[in-house]
Amino acid sequence: MIPPTFDYASPKSLSEAIGLLASRGEGAKVIAGGQSLIPLLKLRLASPSLLVDINRIHGLNRIEESGDSLRIGALTRMADVEASDLIMERYPIIHDASEVIGDPLVRNLGTVGGNVSHGDPNNDMPAVMLALGAAFVATGSAGERTIKAQDFFLDTFTVALNHDEILTEIRVPKSRPKSGGCYLKLEQKVADFATAGVAVQVRLIEGGECEEIGIGLTAVGPAAIKAKKAENWMRRKTWFDSRAVEELARLAAQEANPMTDIRGTAAYKRQVVARLVSRAFRRACKRAGGAL
Ligand SMILES: Cc1cc2nc3c(=O)[nH]c(=O)nc-3n(C[C@H](O)[C@H](O)[C@H](O)COP(=O)(O)OP(=O)(O)OC[C@H]3O[C@@H](n4cnc5c(N)ncnc54)[C@H](O)[C@@H]3O)c2cc1C
Repeated sequence: MIPPTFDYASPKSLSEAIGLLASRGEGAKVIAGGQSLIPLLKLRLASPSLLVDINRIHGLNRIEESGDSLRIGALTRMADVEASDLIMERYPIIHDASEVIGDPLVRNLGTVGGNVSHGDPNNDMPAVMLALGAAFVATGSAGERTIKAQDFFLDTFTVALNHDEILTEIRVPKSRPKSGGCYLKLEQKVADFATAGVAVQVRLIEGGECEEIGIGLTAVGPAAIKAKKAENWMRRKTWFDSRAVEELARLAAQEANPMTDIRGTAAYKRQVVARLVSRAFRRACKRAGGAL
């Protein structure tokens, strides 16, 4: 289908882009890679009066460690995340997800910022960012603010950005010794959205105790889910305590809130979550230096 008519602007600076968004109110929308927004326009599920293309704004496309965090510019293409040695070596959970998002064409254009800002519970990066305890930097008319990932994903297609705010950067706590993570996704066919996906990030201490753990779930609720009960359960338990891991998986599945749809029944998806959580947890612990 042909999208409805819209105005188009391609500002070169963040302040110009924010000014445009503020002047048009709710009718204006940011466009980055267009991999989620353009299909919505074509299906006429969205009809913004103005598209503010942020691709010409410098400085929003980078991957670097700085201070106590990994900083990923919001305009960084998924293909650049996938190809980043820094991410592959030190943040494998992000690499895992970058490899299974759509197909190479989607990843060449789709951005990390767009993936999280879209608020689609089926997108893969939100769960990863929840597991990592990431924070999102938003810049708008009122200045810059930082929003924790756990406060960002409010509902289906609803995130905690104001209409005049642009997500500029994602900050992930810097990788520490004895930490590791893993993202696993079950898909019906290659390049599909998840039937369910699971992100697990851990930090182990002496004796194999799990000091820190973050768990995010994809496609099993109206928004990405942080499985807090499961996280709390596993803290201070040893990674090789198989009964504890079984309970961890059960609790995470209980926190999932899936719907029956073409990808499976709600009960099936809960079982998938349980199975993926225990696998992702073990792989994360292995990457953190726990022997298996
Ligand atoms: C065939 C196909 C398969 C796909 N498969 C997957 C998949 O398996 N997993 C997956 O996770 N995704 C998948 N996607 C979705 C898509 O890849 C992601 O949602 C994509 O990363 C979105 O990024 P984008 O830059 O293209 O965003 P856009 O489409 O440009 O924007 C998406 C939304 O985010 C907003 N936005 C974008 N950037 C910003 C910003 N910096 N600040 C504020 N708001 C912003 C836009 O206003 C819009 O509402 C698929 C898409 C296609 C077409």
